[in-house]
Amino acid sequence: MPLAECAGGCPRLVSLSVDPGGNPMAAADPARFRVRYHHCPACQRFWCDGCEQGGSPCRSCGGALEGPTPRHALELIFGGRGRVPERLLATLVLRGTVFEARRRGGN
Ligand SMILES: [Zn+2]
Ligand SMILES: [Zn+2]
Repeated sequence: MPLAECAGGCPRLVSLSVDPGGNPMAAADPARFRVRYHHCPACQRFWCDGCEQGGSPCRSCGGALEGPTPRHALELIFGGRGRVPERLLATLVLRGTVFEARRRGGN
């Protein structure tokens, strides 16, 4: 799974996932991984939910923070914003929405 270091200096790793609910393995191990995080597109830092203060501006550069999106995992895999094929992104976002709807619908 794609992982990013938390910019807050804590020992946890931020788990990036194309699944809107987060990677299940990472979600099951919150002491090591955080599936809830914010990302600063301006300075490319990731802040875990234990270090950022509720979506406040980036502590490093003051930029606006983004919540989790499948785009973050893809950007890490493809090497940056703008390198992710838009068609792939659209498919994954769509699939994520369908997956989420199904999960909410019950088992
Ligand atoms: Zn942290
Ligand atoms: Zn920043």
